[in-house]
Amino acid sequence: MADDVIRIDRALLQSLMDDVSRFGDTGDGGVDRPALSDNHKAARDWFSGQLRNRGYTVLIDNIGNIFGRLDLAGPDAPVVMVGSHLDSQPKGGRFDGAYGVMVALAAIETWRREAGERGIVPACNVVIVDWMNEEGARFQPSLLGSSVYAGALSRDFALSRADRDGRTVETELLRTGYMGTDGPPRPCCFLEVHIEGDSALEKAGKTIAPFVRHWGATKIRIEVTGQQNHTGPTPMEDRHDAVLGAAFIITKVRELADAATDTLYTSVARVDVSPNSPNIVPGRAVLFAELRAPEPEMLDWAESELTTAIPELAAKASVQAEIAAIERRPAGRFDHRLVALAEQAADRFGYPRMQLDTIAGHDAVAVNACLPAIVIAVPSVNGVIHRCDEYTSPEDLAAGGDVLLEMMRRIDEAGGSLDTSGGQE
Ligand SMILES: [Zn+2]
Repeated sequence: MADDVIRIDRALLQSLMDDVSRFGDTGDGGVDRPALSDNHKAARDWFSGQLRNRGYTVLIDNIGNIFGRLDLAGPDAPVVMVGSHLDSQPKGGRFDGAYGVMVALAAIETWRREAGERGIVPACNVVIVDWMNEEGARFQPSLLGSSVYAGALSRDFALSRADRDGRTVETELLRTGYMGTDGPPRPCCFLEVHIEGDSALEKAGKTIAPFVRHWGATKIRIEVTGQQNHTGPTPMEDRHDAVLGAAFIITKVRELADAATDTLYTSVARVDVSPNSPNIVPGRAVLFAELRAPEPEMLDWAESELTTAIPELAAKASVQAEIAAIERRPAGRFDHRLVALAEQAADRFGYPRMQLDTIAGHDAVAVNACLPAIVIAVPSVNGVIHRCDEYTSPEDLAAGGDVLLEMMRRIDEAGGSLDTSGGQE
């Protein structure tokens, strides 16, 4: 390996990971930091403080995304953006999202120090970003801040999203102090490092995987309306049981995956039942169904099959059911130049690599609609994600950082261009 290689500052990365994991620490290795909760606010306050102390200009846009801009080149120089998200699932893991932000900060800090020591004059400025509400656990949909940034969702729609207690994104942004007015940066690309969240890398014995395709997702909210009644005296034939209707629909959603001729993943993972009492025939049930596939045709098929089946399934339970909302995230591909760049960077360090698709949503998927973007994955032990035992080894965390830093460096050497194939091998 050439001796001019720059490795990420491992000690800094580790200490940043240790620090950020304190916010919402659940005591079992995980964190609990749903978007705009007090724990999330505490993590964001700490993160913004880190940026200010290190001389970054902190910008908050009008949907609560945090950007830390560091001017290393002139005011009109191209900008490279790196980062991920600090919110977590309820009782989630400490690596999902937070690693992507911490590795970005460690990469920028290493780059600025090494550039200074080596007499390199950077050609690009850098921005680190913490996207607001990636997870979509408390406020739906997910990828909220990055989707508004990319123009795929309107700000008014995003602000009006409410949690199950009726508190909106707007009120929670104001409460936590992250309703900003700054114009967001418009960089030449966005690079995100993330834990894989599956076990493909681990099984293959690889360390680095650029995601090449992102699966599409269709998220359907179905409202089932029956009639509230006593579970005792009400005769069976007179019941309009919303949960029974919901059960038929849930079964159908599963059957779609089993009947599909190509890859299709389906779920109903949340059911809100009203009034949710053991001795009341439920009057209402709201289902949150998800269809995911790498190919758009499969999603179209599944959506139309489900839509057609719903009235009949509801009738079987003597209830009404209707689709209250559909949100479609299209399947697509990441920028091929960034895929190649990630592979060249991995090769530079000798990290074994492969290509993967991402099934889960990531902020880079949303951002990819408006500028070249990519996610680079590092291994998740046992493929665990969204759980307290989510884990990635310090070596693999550092490997992701090395690759990110090398990509930033090559883009910088190319003056902000992504056509870096002439770079050294
Ligand atoms: Zn994530």
